[in-house]
Amino acid sequence: THRTGTGTLRDLLSELHGRLATMNDGSVATYIPELAKMDADLFAITIVGIDGRVLEVGDAAQLFSLQSMSKPFVFGQALEDHGREHVLGKVNVEPTGEAFNSILLDEQTNRPFNPLVNAGAIATADLIDGRDFPERLTRLLKIFERYTGRTVHFDNSMFYSERATGHRNRAIAHLMRNFGMISDRIDETLDLYFQQCSIQVNCRDLAVMGATLANAGVNPITGEQAIRAEYVKDVLSIMFTCGMYDSAGSWAYGIGLPAKSGVSGGIIAVVPGQFGIGVFSPRIDARGNSARGVAVCRELSQRYGLHVFEAG
Ligand code: GLN
Repeated sequence: THRTGTGTLRDLLSELHGRLATMNDGSVATYIPELAKMDADLFAITIVGIDGRVLEVGDAAQLFSLQSMSKPFVFGQALEDHGREHVLGKVNVEPTGEAFNSILLDEQTNRPFNPLVNAGAIATADLIDGRDFPERLTRLLKIFERYTGRTVHFDNSMFYSERATGHRNRAIAHLMRNFGMISDRIDETLDLYFQQCSIQVNCRDLAVMGATLANAGVNPITGEQAIRAEYVKDVLSIMFTCGMYDSAGSWAYGIGLPAKSGVSGGIIAVVPGQFGIGVFSPRIDARGNSARGVAVCRELSQRYGLHVFEAG
């Protein structure tokens, strides 16, 4: 990795942070009322190596909701609990070219296109089992505690805000129920989905989660196995092809890293075998990706040749 020392990388992060802090493209998401309350100017970048070293700049301790960044991790848990065959019977692995909240299902099989659009994420939330709803919720939270290496919480206001306004997600769930793609516990599953989106994290958590995926599923800070190594490639390949919604193709082409964005303005990017990148800046572009976040990842990728197919 970067043997010239972290000093160089730290300097670059500070320089990037200072320069991009004046870029005000995009706007804070408002369709979930609670999201609209976030200070638009917040900005943090964190890098966590597979050796557990942390580099961060800006508002790295600011809490915000995980939103769609929760999706790949729930997909990973579904794989662990049910195996590939069962999970892939409920959700496909094709990029959509559609917006994150697309209501389209695959015409032949009625499956959602992939686990990272809302439809697919609701289908994978349905696969989080437990004796009862509280146990399902607890198991959900545990996933994220393994990846972040700390105690995390649901944000109640965010949860209720989304639950009260999530008519489109409710429609998607009912459509999938109609096709037998999800179980009868629709309301529970939707609550589980709204809850996973509400989980409070900071920018450092994003980078640790990314570093865990970069490190064969082992959290580099705690040493805990957050996901079985055999499923890391499932999660990373779905992030590579579908993580940035309808700009997934240009992201894969130009930046070339498995990544996942959320409407709260976070991005998790993974440099396999090296480090995880977390960026937080609430102004999002038309596709739902943090504008500064995309710019940070592009610059880091180009500067250090991080594209996974980089040949030299
Ligand atoms: N909770 C959000 C929703 O379902 C997640 C969307 C996102 O982060 N892109 O609309």
